Amino acid sequence: MYFSKSFIPILKNNPTEAKIKSHQLMLRTGMIKQSSTGIYSWLPLGFKVMKKIEQIVREEQNRVGVQEILMPTIQSSEIWKESGRYDDYGEEMLRIKDRQNREMLYGPTNEELVTEIFRSSVKSYKSLPQLLYHIQWKFRDELRPRFGIMRCREFYMKDAYSFDISDEEALYSYNKFFLSYLNTFKRMDLSAIPMAADTGPIGGNLSHEFIILADTGESKIFTDKRIFEVDSSKTTIDKNSLTKLRENFENYYSVTDEKFNKNEFERNVPEEYRLKTKGIEVGHIFYFGDKYSKPMNASVDYNGKKEFVKMGSYGVGVSRLVGAIIEAKYDDKNEIMKWPMSVSPYDCCIIPIINKNDNSNLEKATNILNILKKHNLDVLIDDTDENISSKIKKFNLLGIPFQIIIGKNFNEQKIEFKEVFKDTLFISLDEIIKTIKNKKSN
Ligand code: ATP
Ligand code: MG
Repeated sequence: MYFSKSFIPILKNNPTEAKIKSHQLMLRTGMIKQSSTGIYSWLPLGFKVMKKIEQIVREEQNRVGVQEILMPTIQSSEIWKESGRYDDYGEEMLRIKDRQNREMLYGPTNEELVTEIFRSSVKSYKSLPQLLYHIQWKFRDELRPRFGIMRCREFYMKDAYSFDISDEEALYSYNKFFLSYLNTFKRMDLSAIPMAADTGPIGGNLSHEFIILADTGESKIFTDKRIFEVDSSKTTIDKNSLTKLRENFENYYSVTDEKFNKNEFERNVPEEYRLKTKGIEVGHIFYFGDKYSKPMNASVDYNGKKEFVKMGSYGVGVSRLVGAIIEAKYDDKNEIMKWPMSVSPYDCCIIPIINKNDNSNLEKATNILNILKKHNLDVLIDDTDENISSKIKKFNLLGIPFQIIIGKNFNEQKIEFKEVFKDTLFISLDEIIKTIKNKKSN
């Protein structure tokens, strides 16, 4: 892609309305554009990142056996009246009337709808467990939308739901998601810590929030630092291995502020390991038993007996993650951003120095672009005639992990190549390709 033809509307200065880095950067580099309070359009650069995040989330759901569906954004109020949440949800729910004057709503979450889908088809315990997910826009009329797409009104979320015959089986499902989330965030180069959390309006008694540390986060957390060392890499998806994994995490005190208890914290965590800080919630899992299945009459036949299914729900903030990754990866001091390779909008950029009346560097850059394309690398080439220092500044903001610079002393065997935050190298194109591909496959 040539920069001059791309739709990346970069702003000269940081927008003053944005209070935190990710919001500033997303507006500055033209990733998003606000359309009204808490509602955003996603422009190519931002959309590419979000789609890559979505795909990682999808692959990790599929890996633990969750099946993808797609439910609509607009729901009927009927099922919410059945569960009793139509009134409880209050003003966060956007309520709409259709032309027949029927009460509809824009889904803030989907426990009711998925339960309705489940109960109309599944009749026997032999079909359990059922694990279903979808990735869809949600609307919550947040009291204080802020920080750009971090707390907005319309946002993109992966939500999953589990249906099991017993508590024991349901906890097995819960633990599958627990592992899947650890793996999902790891692939984005994030360290997300599972913390015991309140269940809030969803209800139930077991819940973990997955939090990444960031000063600008809205969640206050209290944790034992040793939790960062817990290793999940050898966990397999069998029951015992998953139970062990959760125990290994739960060995360490780690809670959000609603669950915080000073005495417990001090009793359980030696002083040198205590950490009070802030974080961003990127995922949230709940177990709530028959809270919805009972009022909505979602049951299966279990050897002639009617059993209400035991349910859990599991969310990931797909659009919030775009901002969360920026908060985690932006280097404040040097004003440089580096996307994790797995979600970067481009694999590499080519920055030729272009003098007026001399196109030779642009031609060299185009040749390299064509070769990289053949290797399935997604490349952005800066064909503008800005000076080199403003080009470098721009790409440092854009955060594409690799830069190829084509200047005066271009030498095919020793091309100027830089990975953001690392030293400049002078290597051949083959070596460049190897380096980028290597990073991609990690
Ligand atoms: P929060 O405490 O941040 O309001 P929540 O507990 O209401 O989150 P869930 O209902 O569990 O969130 O939703 C699942 C995920 O969706 C959250 O972990 C978060 O990443 C994301 N999310 C929730 N609300 C918003 C929002 N207003 N804007 C962007 N993402 C959101
Ligand atoms: Mg909320």
